[in-house]
Amino acid sequence: MSESGTSKETSQPALFHGEGGEVRESSPGAGIARVLVEETALELDYAIPGELAERVHLGSRVHVPLQGRRAIAVVIQLLKESSYEGRLKPVHDVIGTRPMFPGATLDLARWISAYYLCPLRQVLRTMLPEAVRTKPESFLSDSHIALAREPTADEWAKLRKSAPIQARILEMLQERGGESALSDLRKDLPRATSIVHVLVRKGYVNRSEVRVERDPFSDEEFVATAPLTLTKEQSAAMHHVLERLERPAEAKPMLLHGVTGSGKTEIYLQAIGRVLEKAKTALVLVPEISLTPQTIERFKSRFAERRQRIAVLHSHLSDGERHDEWFKIHEGRADIVIGARSAIFAPLENLGLVIVDEEHEPSYKQDENPRYHARDLAVVRAKIEGCPVILGSATPSLESYENAKTGKYDLLQLTKRTDGKSLPLVRIVDMRLEKRRTKEGFSILSEKLRLAVQQRLDNGEQSILFLNRRGFNTALTCLQCGVTCQCPECAVALTFHKTEERLICHVCGMRKLPPRKCEACGDPGIQFGGWGTERAEQTIRTVFPQARIARVDTDTMQRKNQLRDTLRLFRSQKLDILIGTQMIAKGLDFPNVTLVGVLNADLALNLPDFRAAERTFQLLTQVAGRAGRGERKGEVFIQTYAPHSPAIQFARHADFEGFAEQELEQRRVMHYPPFTHVVLIGCRSRVASHAEFALQTLQSRLLKGLPEGVRPGEPCPCPLSKAHGQYRFQLLLRSEKVRPLVSHLQRTMAEMTFPEEVIVTWDVDAMSLM
Ligand code: ADP
Ligand code: ZN
Repeated sequence: MSESGTSKETSQPALFHGEGGEVRESSPGAGIARVLVEETALELDYAIPGELAERVHLGSRVHVPLQGRRAIAVVIQLLKESSYEGRLKPVHDVIGTRPMFPGATLDLARWISAYYLCPLRQVLRTMLPEAVRTKPESFLSDSHIALAREPTADEWAKLRKSAPIQARILEMLQERGGESALSDLRKDLPRATSIVHVLVRKGYVNRSEVRVERDPFSDEEFVATAPLTLTKEQSAAMHHVLERLERPAEAKPMLLHGVTGSGKTEIYLQAIGRVLEKAKTALVLVPEISLTPQTIERFKSRFAERRQRIAVLHSHLSDGERHDEWFKIHEGRADIVIGARSAIFAPLENLGLVIVDEEHEPSYKQDENPRYHARDLAVVRAKIEGCPVILGSATPSLESYENAKTGKYDLLQLTKRTDGKSLPLVRIVDMRLEKRRTKEGFSILSEKLRLAVQQRLDNGEQSILFLNRRGFNTALTCLQCGVTCQCPECAVALTFHKTEERLICHVCGMRKLPPRKCEACGDPGIQFGGWGTERAEQTIRTVFPQARIARVDTDTMQRKNQLRDTLRLFRSQKLDILIGTQMIAKGLDFPNVTLVGVLNADLALNLPDFRAAERTFQLLTQVAGRAGRGERKGEVFIQTYAPHSPAIQFARHADFEGFAEQELEQRRVMHYPPFTHVVLIGCRSRVASHAEFALQTLQSRLLKGLPEGVRPGEPCPCPLSKAHGQYRFQLLLRSEKVRPLVSHLQRTMAEMTFPEEVIVTWDVDAMSLM
C-alpha cells in the first residue's frame, strides 16, 4: 500500500453521466467545466448553465450531480467542447463567492502535485482548512434590532403598565441610538428573543440577520505605530526592495540576511506599506512558534487603521475562527495575511509581495503528504503571481544562501543591530573539564554559568536557560548490564517525567511506571541519567532558592494562553529565570535579559543527519540573539562536550559566512544539498523483514533505467528504527535535478504492488532523516 497512492490522474471525462441526478435545462454557450471530483479523483465534464456562467471559474468549488448524489468538485479546466459524446449534466451550484482556488493557487497545486509526487486531489484537500472544506460558509449570525416606530404617549403608558419588559426593551433601544444586536439585549434581559418577536409583530421594531465574525483579537488593543527612520543599512536594503516592487515581473527572490535585531521586520513592514499603497496584497509567513501575540501586534499596530483587513492563520485558532479568517481573505476583505506554513495557500488575490521570515526554519516543511516546503512554495507562488518574494533570516538555510551566492537570488545584508550595540559576548564552557573537576558533585549548571546567573540576580537582571530536551531524566540505565529502559513500540529510550512519576515515550506518548529493577537482567542497580528541562528546573531552584523561576516547554504549556501569560510575567520582570526548550529560542525580545545559557549544545550536534551542524549553528545563533536586547550588554554561555566543533566555534563568533563556507565545501564534496536534492523513501511495517524486503525490491527496480546524475543509496534502518510498533527502513536518493528522479520514481512505483501491511512513503527535499 502506498500512503497517498500514485493513482493515475489521467482525465476520464464523463464516465458516469448515464443516470441519476437532477437535470436542469441549461442555456447553451456558457461552456463546459472539467472538474476533479474531490472524493473519487475522477475528472469529469459538466455543462455550465447560463445562470451560473458568471460564477463558475477556474478553481471554483462546485456541486455536481454524480451517480444520483451531489458531489463536491473543483473546476480544473474550462473547455469549449467535451470529448464526451452524450448530453452533459449541468453544474448544480457554486460554493463561495469567488473561486476557492484562485488562479495562482490552482497552478501552485499542480506544481506541488508534480514536484512532490502527490495526487492533485490530495494537494487541493491540504490547501483548504478543514473547517472551510467541510463546513463552508457556516458563519455565526446575530440579529440586528432597530426601532421601526416610536410608541405614542398612550401606547407607552399602556406598555409600561401591562407589558413592562416590552417597554424596557424599547427604552433600551432608544438609549442605544435606536438599534442594538439581539445578543447585547440578551445580556441584560435573557428573555429578549421572545419579547423582540412580539415587538416585531406589533410593528415597533425590525429584525434582520447579520453575520458575526469570530475575531481572535477582539480583546486586544493596538496602539498605532509610525514607520521608523531607517538606518543606513536598512535604507540600502529597502531601496533595493522598493526597486523590485516597481518592476515585479523581473524580480528575483531576495534573501534578507540580517543579524538578530538588525531590523528585518521593519523592512517587511515598510515594504508592505508600499504594497498597500499600490492597492495590492501581502502574504507573510512566520514559523508557528514565532507567531506570537507580539509578532501579530507589531503588524496590527503598524497598520492600525486597517487592522480589520489583516487576517491571521495559525494552528491555535478555533475551527470557527480559522473558518472566518479564511473567508475574510476569500471575500476580499483582507489585504495582509500573516500565518504559519499552510498560509502559503491563502486565497489572496492581487498579490504584491510574499515574505518568509526565519526562512531556514525546518518547521516550514510539512511532515505528511504532500510533504511541501512552504518557503520553496513561496518562491514558486511569487513566480506564478509575478510578484517579489523576500526570504529573511539571521542564519539563512544553506540552500537559500547558495542561491544568493550564485546570483539566483539577490542578497541583502544587515550586519548591525539597530541599537548600534555589538552582539553579545559568547563564552564556551568545556563540560569535559567541568566533569573531571567536580566528579560526584557534577551538575548541569557549570560553576561559571552559576556565577553568571548569580550576578544577574544580584543586579536585578534576567536570565534565560535553554535545554532542548523536556522531561526530567533522559534515560533509566542498568549499571550492571548497561541496558536502557526503552519503549517497546519505538526504538527510543524512555524519558522520566517527575511530576507524573512516569516514563514517557517522546515518539508515541506511551506512559508507564518506572521499573524497580532492570527489566533485562533483574539487577536493582538501575539509575536515571541525563538531564531534561524538568530536572534542570529542580536543580536551578535548589541552587537559587530566592529566584523566581518558570519553565516553558510543551509539558508546562498545555493550557491555552499559558505561554502568553508566562512570557508576560517574564517581560514585566516578575520572573528572574526562564528555563525552556526551543519554544523560547525564537523571536522573543526581552530588554532586561542580559544572560543566556545553553545547558547542552551537543543535543542537536549528535543527530545522525547531514544538517546536524547547520541546525546547531542556527540554534546557538538564535539563542544568543536573546541576550542583551536592551540597554545593558548581553552575555552567552554555551556548555558543550565538543567545544572545538566548527558549528560551535563559528556560532561563538557569530560568523555566518565562515560557517557557511566550510559547511558548503563539505556538502559539495559529499554531494549533499544544496548541491543535490535528496529524496527519502521510507518503508515501514510491523514485520521488519517485510519492510526491508519491500525497500530492497523497490531499490533494485529503481536501479533499472536510473536517470543520469542520480546517486542511489542503500536501504538501511532509519535512525529511529522502530516507532509506533512499526519497523522503519529508508533509502536516500540524491540527484542534481528533481524532476527526472521523481518521474522515474513514479513510473517505477506504478508498476509495483506492495504488500498490504507495508507502508511506503517518499519525501522530496527531505528535511528530517530520522
Ligand atoms: P529583526 O527582525 O531583524 O530581529 P527587528 O525588526 O525586530 O529586527 O528590530 C529590532 C528592534 O529594533 C525592534 O525593537 C525595532 O523596533 C527596532 N528598530 C528596527 N528598525 C529601527 C530603526 N530604523 N530605528 C530604530 N529602531 C529600529
Ligand atoms: Zn513509543
